[in-house]
Amino acid sequence: MRELIIIGGGPAGYTAALYAARANLEPLVIEGFAWGGQLMITSDVENYPGYPDGILGPQMMQDFRRQAERFGAEFVTDDVTKVDFSEHPFRVWVGEKEYVSESAIVATGASARQLGLESERTLQGKGVSYCAVCDAAFFRDKDVVVVGGGDSAMEEAIFLTKFATKVFLIHRRDEFRASPIMLDRARANEKIEFVTPAVVEHVTSDGGQTSGVLIRDLSTGETRELAAHGVFVAIGHDPNTKLFLDQLDHDEAGYLVTKPGSTATNIEGVFAAGDVVDHTYRQAVTAAASGTMAALDAERWLSAREGAAMVVPKPQAAEV
Ligand code: NAP
Repeated sequence: MRELIIIGGGPAGYTAALYAARANLEPLVIEGFAWGGQLMITSDVENYPGYPDGILGPQMMQDFRRQAERFGAEFVTDDVTKVDFSEHPFRVWVGEKEYVSESAIVATGASARQLGLESERTLQGKGVSYCAVCDAAFFRDKDVVVVGGGDSAMEEAIFLTKFATKVFLIHRRDEFRASPIMLDRARANEKIEFVTPAVVEHVTSDGGQTSGVLIRDLSTGETRELAAHGVFVAIGHDPNTKLFLDQLDHDEAGYLVTKPGSTATNIEGVFAAGDVVDHTYRQAVTAAASGTMAALDAERWLSAREGAAMVVPKPQAAEV
């Protein structure tokens, strides 16, 4: 029986583990087979405070993990396959193996949707990015491509114009899912050129770095190449919540919903942190902060529960 199981091995999960371990909760982190989260497909991270010279995303996640381990957090490097939060103690399965715990923190993050191209996968962190706030500054005075037609694509394209010379916004339809105000703002920006209806068929490279995209015009069927140093895929995110949807409150997009000002979910003793609840900020530092909050909430909840158990009058021993 554990006091706390943390599900998820990204900035939120590891930071929750660090705080929980330092509070002597001896947390078990079921970090996932592909631990590290979205930072594992990022190269340089220059916006995490405390790393003045920047750091590689995978290295940063190793540092987070090692710091939690130093204080006694334990890890299972595999995927959770089933949970039962319907009664105490909670039960969490990894295949046939069952883990039991008083409390749980869900920090399984979200995944950026990908175009599904082999070239896109190979060039992740080498010009292909899923976060303009994180990577725009690497494309100062360069041409870049943004793929997508929703608010994220408009926002990323507008943000990129602060650095890039030109932003090609490629969308598969002539109509846009983006709100009219965001669309108007992007259309009014002279640096943004709309390319529709078109799809990216291949990301080209030169010397291992992105050099452009091969796009197909869906109205003519013609294919052409666009030169660009960066490709920002902004076609939405999916929270990794499939395992929890039947037990934890969530919004219509599947993000978990917590109580206002807290990381508590609808089930007492289950907390949620990081991108699994956040579709707005999505930064490593905000996820880490949210992991801290979840660990503190879990610790307080466990203490209160222990305190309550201590004041329950014990049955009198029968006289012999
Ligand atoms: P979204 O609204 O779901 O838009 C995704 C876009 O990507 C759509 O245009 C979609 O095309 C396109 N797309 C999806 N799969 C694709 C694929 N395989 N290939 C090419 N294109 C593909 O996602 P989002 O833009 O991330 O926005 C999510 C939510 O956050 C929305 O509610 C949005 O309003 C909100 N948000 C708000 C702001 C803001 O207000 N500042 C900023 C960002 C996000 P189709 O339209 O053809 O399906």
